[in-house]
Amino acid sequence: MFYESTRNSNLSVTSAEAIKMGIAPDGGLFVPHSRVSISQQTLADMVDMSYTGRAEKVLSLFLTDFTGIEIKECVEGAYNEEKFASAEVAPLHKLDNGTYILELYHGPTCAFKDFALQILPHFMPRAAAKTGDTDEIVILVATSGDTGKAALEGFRDVPGTKIIVFYPENGVSVVQKLQMTTQQGNNVAVVAVEGNFDDAQSGVKDIFTDPAMKNLLRDRHYKFSSANSINWGRLAPQIVYYFSAYLDMVKSGDLNMGRPLNFVVPTGNFGNILAGFYAKTMGLPVNRLICASNENNVLTDFIRTGEYNRKRQFHKTLSPSMDILISSNLERLLYELTDHDADTILKWMAQLSETGVYTVDSGIRQKINELFWSDFADDTETLATIKDTFENHKYLIDTHTAVGKNVYDKYVRTTGDNTPTVIASTASPFKFNKSVVRALLGEEALKGKDEFELLNILSRTSGLEIPSGLRDLDKKTVLHNTRATKVEMPRVVKEVLNIA
Ligand SMILES: *Cc1c(COP(=O)(O)O)cnc(C)c1O
Repeated sequence: MFYESTRNSNLSVTSAEAIKMGIAPDGGLFVPHSRVSISQQTLADMVDMSYTGRAEKVLSLFLTDFTGIEIKECVEGAYNEEKFASAEVAPLHKLDNGTYILELYHGPTCAFKDFALQILPHFMPRAAAKTGDTDEIVILVATSGDTGKAALEGFRDVPGTKIIVFYPENGVSVVQKLQMTTQQGNNVAVVAVEGNFDDAQSGVKDIFTDPAMKNLLRDRHYKFSSANSINWGRLAPQIVYYFSAYLDMVKSGDLNMGRPLNFVVPTGNFGNILAGFYAKTMGLPVNRLICASNENNVLTDFIRTGEYNRKRQFHKTLSPSMDILISSNLERLLYELTDHDADTILKWMAQLSETGVYTVDSGIRQKINELFWSDFADDTETLATIKDTFENHKYLIDTHTAVGKNVYDKYVRTTGDNTPTVIASTASPFKFNKSVVRALLGEEALKGKDEFELLNILSRTSGLEIPSGLRDLDKKTVLHNTRATKVEMPRVVKEVLNIA
């Protein structure tokens, strides 16, 4: 299986090269050259497999230049009981007849990004070795909160790699900051940048593109790479849990093999839901993919009208991981739906960067409407949905998942579709404890409480244990207290790598 770029269909690289590079040299995203399918027999064989067995099967279809042993090592290094609090890895919770919640938050950082960022670090050194590269890989991350911690946990102590995370000193929550500054591991560094997220991000970009830095690294046998969400090595692992959810329902007898299922996905960068699209193209019986947005509803408008328009007000919402106006992974969907027409993608992406708007033609729009449905929920609806779900189903969900649940209720009211449906739960309610407590107990309950008291209040109210990754954070030792201005970031990198 070879990979091409969404902006150049003549490019042809192996999966190892695609993972090592992250993004194509022309700025496009890597996609499989041809359609990958899974036979009904293989699907049937997977019913009795564990999550790791299913992951090996699905990933081996995409990473054909990795050996079976290598894939097994990667999968077992990522999805084990030391890392995931649930033995099932991605358990399904039955909310009521026909509605299920896929809990994707039992990883070390309590959000679904662990599914990709626990395994990418295992792919990365193997991908480098396979492409004849013996350099040590240095991952640079600029984070607004969640990705940094997930990447740190994933890359910690992985041989052949180092990771340096830059976060905006005053741009992350107390819990997020402590999650990062107490990070253990012999190959990790965490740096507070004096400035906002844009400063951290442009600082990292400057380091990546500085020729002098590149030469220095090469001489010292280091190579930069990125753990960005557009890396194919982050997307492929997400395809697995769509299969796993389906197979679990078949296994429990709640679904007959071959019958269709809907998936609802709280969406930001379009990575998670795109993995669901690939699962469907492989032959998984998926009816509709329901794209749930918050008030930054650029995708809802796009799916309904065919016009992508990012020229709109940016809203800071209670589901911050979905506060995005440019959904990078959408480019892959458009490439697939235009039957790999790179010229058309180039045209649309140029229009997006020049004017902020592009419109797809009616044929593509129709295909999108057959596959997807979309709506959005604002913050008031999000809070009400958390409260409702807790009172009516005795089940606690976070703000992102609540957006999904609210949009699903709208879908059922609008379409009357009663196909069994799985809602992806992308974060633990404890990760967004402040909003969840507010939803359950009201604004008053927050007065004078810090985030750690709120964790305890949420635990008492729900009867659930605080996840170990968030517990006792205020008692852990702070191991990282390096600060830097944007200008000092290259010097910090050299110091960390001992090449100053
Ligand atoms: C990243 C994230 C999302 C959005 O996922 P995309 O793949 O960017 O669409 C949703 N919820 C949570 C909790 C996240 O961390």
